[in-house]
Amino acid sequence: MNRHGMTRRKFLVASAAGGAALAASPYLGFDAWAASEKASGEVKVTPTLCDACGNWCALRVYTKGDRVWKAEGIPIAGNNLGRVCAKGHAMLHEVYNPDRIKSPLKRVGPNKFEPISWQQAYKEIGAKLGQIKEKHGAESIFWLQYPEGNADVTFRFMNALGSPNVFSHGATCFLPRNIGWWLTVGNSKPEHDFANSRFILLIGRNLAAGLNLRKLQDVVKGRESGAKVVVVDPRFSESASIAKQWIRIRPGTDLALMLAVAHVMIDESLYQKEFVEKYTEGFEEFAEEVRKFPPSWAEEKTTVPKETIVTLAREMAKAAPRAVIHRGYHAAAGTQYKNSLQLVRAIACVNGLLGNYNQLGGLYPAPKVKLGKPDPNQYPAPPPVKGPMVDGSGDPERYPLTPKGVGISHAIPELAIQGKLKAGFVHHNNPLRTCPNPARVIEGYKKLDLLVSFDYVLSETATLAHYILPESYYLERDDVVHANHAYSSQQVAIRQQVVKPLYDTKPLVQILIELAQHLGIGQYFTFTLEDWNRAALKPLGVSLEQLKKEGVIDLGGQWQPGEPHFDTPSGKLEFVSSTLKDLELPAVPTWEEPLVSPDPKDPHSFRLIHGKQAHHTHARTANQPYLMKITTDQDWGRAWIHPDRAKKLEIKDGDCMTLTSSVGSGRMRARVTDGIHPDCIFLPSGYGIFSRNLTYAKKKGQGGFGYGVSYNDFLPTMFDPVLGHAMANEVIVKVTKTYT
Ligand code: SF4
Repeated sequence: MNRHGMTRRKFLVASAAGGAALAASPYLGFDAWAASEKASGEVKVTPTLCDACGNWCALRVYTKGDRVWKAEGIPIAGNNLGRVCAKGHAMLHEVYNPDRIKSPLKRVGPNKFEPISWQQAYKEIGAKLGQIKEKHGAESIFWLQYPEGNADVTFRFMNALGSPNVFSHGATCFLPRNIGWWLTVGNSKPEHDFANSRFILLIGRNLAAGLNLRKLQDVVKGRESGAKVVVVDPRFSESASIAKQWIRIRPGTDLALMLAVAHVMIDESLYQKEFVEKYTEGFEEFAEEVRKFPPSWAEEKTTVPKETIVTLAREMAKAAPRAVIHRGYHAAAGTQYKNSLQLVRAIACVNGLLGNYNQLGGLYPAPKVKLGKPDPNQYPAPPPVKGPMVDGSGDPERYPLTPKGVGISHAIPELAIQGKLKAGFVHHNNPLRTCPNPARVIEGYKKLDLLVSFDYVLSETATLAHYILPESYYLERDDVVHANHAYSSQQVAIRQQVVKPLYDTKPLVQILIELAQHLGIGQYFTFTLEDWNRAALKPLGVSLEQLKKEGVIDLGGQWQPGEPHFDTPSGKLEFVSSTLKDLELPAVPTWEEPLVSPDPKDPHSFRLIHGKQAHHTHARTANQPYLMKITTDQDWGRAWIHPDRAKKLEIKDGDCMTLTSSVGSGRMRARVTDGIHPDCIFLPSGYGIFSRNLTYAKKKGQGGFGYGVSYNDFLPTMFDPVLGHAMANEVIVKVTKTYT
């Protein structure tokens, strides 16, 4: 039993029961179909890549006749090692969701659409975009995407249009993580050899809910081989439930913990001296800085007892170099705090003290696969667009460290309100639901003269679009070849068509090739997707036929421990970042207060934090009945609050509460649990759908509003001064009991 009152077995039983109860839902229920006379077709197995979250696990999808049946994981695939999660299974059914868009649509009024032909859509978009380009320049056009499976083609598209404005969702997810690691070791995403570790520290990283099936299995393997797994989190997370120790920390203070751990390792001379001498730069300055941050100081900041901090440092040091701190992702080391960049740098530096880089049980650079490109003589490519993005990303005077191609996506509405953005393409993204301050986001996106969505359902953003060019569901389409699929070896993989498209939809690359002919950039789109993929595979000596047959091909190049290499300016792990120094920014990790703190005298004042659940991805899965059944059966949409704080507000488990911030207010029910730090309220993400066009995300009797609330409803629009990220946990909410 864990602190959610839920055993693993109970979870599985609950999930299965949810599935059984839903067997009669309008579009679910393979069993009913299988019993019908239509189910006489042959069984076929097609390998492809799941698209239900950004991990892109490799699947073998079974079809019977022309119908999707089930999936299993491909055992050699580096991203999932044969496993498939609940979302992966449930989202197979999405291909049959009646909410799907069945042809190109044109918006003819608020929430009113009429079907149009592809040719008409291309023609009208081409004419409108031409006018916008002429009047406002190509820089007034943007592209927003994530994940970026077809990114090489979309960059080509935007380069051809002459705009530098390609955004991912990085500034609301992982931006400081990538930049912090890149500054310190020259690699924005080092991998972890968890399976061979002897000490694994997950700090603000909930691998068991922000799921990564490969890493989770590796952590479990490491644990089974004797590694101690410790989780630092304000909340008793799903990962904490598989750890040896949960260290409850005040949210926003992980940086203080890391500085104090470094303090102990250096003070007690526990760090890997040979590694530090040979492979690092700026150790003395770092040591001098962290001397200011002893465990007693960190205890006050973090509420973690100083003895716990000392023990943590000693145990990690003892296991070094086979001790590793996770590189971080969306949480504390992601885009949640003003001090997130400092935290990532501190995590990277403590890993440096552990001397684990390129070592067994430590961190390593994932082997890369270099794909080929279409021959430029045959398929001319547009020149890349120089200069910064419209949001200042890549501008030495504004956000020099924020890469072009990532950008600051939650700045799009502001830029539209300022008249700097006039037209946008949104692919695989729903900013109206996934960016802070939805009222402002809606206001901004409404200002656009042209918004084109490639969605397959009428999400919140698609509902606002002028045109929807529906991309085929992932089981109905081919995508560009996918490299870097593995962590410890070189692998190449492909997403390919499993069933024929049910409706008049197309793969994104096909849409862009056709649309380009109407935008005056057709000369850069004379290839087919097959041409593109053959060119990509050419240097690898792998044929497209072979890859389609196997789904994933391992090219070898298995990572081996050895001499570390760092692609930093000094060629070493930089305790003192030369890049930050050049930019006159704090170059040594040091303490930085979070932007906001709850008022200790006000019983209603809390920091709002949020996180994923293993059965949901962003706002994309809340319209899937099996997954929502798990949520509703288990009552997992509730907000977590500590019993001591709840008592003062007369809130009991299950009571209704109202949360109010400077930008929004919302009601939810309470989960009163000591598995949460008293300073904060935790909201699970993925809920609060407000599109009225998503049948299964609706809560019965609530006038079409979706189940639960979203943390974005409470977040003001904020930009970190260095990187521009959203600082999505830097919000104070007032909590009151709701008497109904
Ligand atoms: S983790 Fe689950 S949802 Fe994500 S790609 Fe893998 S199987 Fe699909």
